[in-house]
Amino acid sequence: MNPVFNYPNFDYAALETRTPYYIIDRALIRRNMRILKEVQDDAGCRILLALKAFSTWGVFDEIAPYVAGVAASSLNEARLAQDYFGEGKEIHVYSPAYSMEEMKSLTRIADHIVFNSLEQWHTFRDVVEGAGRKIEVGLRINPEYSEVGLEIYNPCTTRSRFGVRLEGLLDAGENALDGIDGLHFHTMCQQGSDVLQRTVGVVCERFERYFPQVKWINFGGGHHITRMGYDVRRLCRIVRDFREKYGLDVIMEPGETHVIHTGFLVSTVLDVIENPNGVDVVILDTSAAAHMPDVLEMPYTPEILGARRNVEDCDAPLEEGMFKYIIGSKTCLSGDIIGEYLFPRPLKVGDRLTLEDMSQYTTCKNTMFNGIQLPSIVSCDSEIDGGRFRVHRQFDYNDFRNRLS
Ligand SMILES: *Cc1c(COP(=O)(O)O)cnc(C)c1O
Repeated sequence: MNPVFNYPNFDYAALETRTPYYIIDRALIRRNMRILKEVQDDAGCRILLALKAFSTWGVFDEIAPYVAGVAASSLNEARLAQDYFGEGKEIHVYSPAYSMEEMKSLTRIADHIVFNSLEQWHTFRDVVEGAGRKIEVGLRINPEYSEVGLEIYNPCTTRSRFGVRLEGLLDAGENALDGIDGLHFHTMCQQGSDVLQRTVGVVCERFERYFPQVKWINFGGGHHITRMGYDVRRLCRIVRDFREKYGLDVIMEPGETHVIHTGFLVSTVLDVIENPNGVDVVILDTSAAAHMPDVLEMPYTPEILGARRNVEDCDAPLEEGMFKYIIGSKTCLSGDIIGEYLFPRPLKVGDRLTLEDMSQYTTCKNTMFNGIQLPSIVSCDSEIDGGRFRVHRQFDYNDFRNRLS
């Protein structure tokens, strides 16, 4: 359990929804938002919410007042922002490629459209410029520098499809950026301002010559600004120095940093399977594959409140009074395992287990694989009403059926 945060003490009995459910604590979101507000005021930049990471619109009202707008990665996300993120907020869109139909709709909604290639920009230039309203146009660049170790999350590998490399811009000649208002790069993932500093260094080294031709630059996402230990002052310094030196507006579009440590996934123990040759296995009414896919994709082992992850030395002799379990999911995928944990008590059928840090990349990535029940979406406000729940959405058979034919 993360000792730093004062988590609300949930009164499960008061909540009349079956498990599994996500609980998003509005007070914890506001805590993150205050940090992001300070960064914007101090550094003089605009921060957006990348909807890809979190688009649970039932709690957008806690985020929208503190940020400049959203970064959408599709027409659907842009429409969601238009409908639920509130008046006067900027809608930025970036996608690796657009279709003509999508672009025609986007030009009615978006304030900023970022293109992934010069070809895409040339294809849609007439549509964008004929939209009858000023749309800021951006071009994603590929600085060919990323400190992301995992290939699946690294946008700068030699096989990358993201952004124009310096060579591509040079090949396009002097007027390469004609009609383009800003540059965009996104090369980070859950990283600190030290990584940003080195990345910005490389971006400047390679693309500085183009800065006088544009008005703004978007530093992308992957900034873990609200995480404990993140060096916020260095971030502000990097942004201020950049603005002063080049006179460009700076935009950032992180996603998960808005909501880290704000959400919980509550589930029920359905069975405890004794394993005389190894570790007993618990089956929950939730699933890593369906309800927290990054557990398998990253992969990582989430915290469970009141338990300890047993990640370092799985075979160490068990401490006195501790009970070891493998926590598994209710799907038929063999690898759908959440992790191995130590509990201070034996687990039994009916126990509630609460998984921590479950707001980002969960609700927006869920599937109904195996026909498994989608978790309900609940919010509470531990600052105002002591954790009283509001059930935003419960899912049923119709949600399963309607997507399939
Ligand atoms: C994923 C993504 C983001 C958000 O990243 P986080 O890791 O959630 O901060 C922002 N911009 C682009 C282009 C992305 O692909």
